[in-house]
Amino acid sequence: MHEMSLAGGVLRLVEQAQARERFSRVARLRLEAGALAGVELHALRFALEALAPGTVLEGAAIEIDVLPARAWCLACSRSVEIRARSDDCPLCGSAQIQASGGTELKLAELIVVDSA
Ligand SMILES: [Zn+2]
Repeated sequence: MHEMSLAGGVLRLVEQAQARERFSRVARLRLEAGALAGVELHALRFALEALAPGTVLEGAAIEIDVLPARAWCLACSRSVEIRARSDDCPLCGSAQIQASGGTELKLAELIVVDSA
């Protein structure tokens, strides 16, 4: 499953942050997924929760925000917001648009708990 490998990548990023910053656990983790990233949010959340026990993510609150993607409309000659790769331009209805960005999954926020 695609989301399982994404979740593994997220866990590795958090573990790398832990190695640098030496916190004991994560209280809150916020991810941002581009609207065109092809991420099934429920599956990603499920995968993260399945991985968490015994790791630095155990007990962490997980939030996943979806960021709208942007595209360049050739007809309007301007940048517009889209929600899916198959969308037409929301301003003029043209199908002549080129998606730019919106395919990334990134770690937006990490609230950690220091070992006392
Ligand atoms: Zn347009």
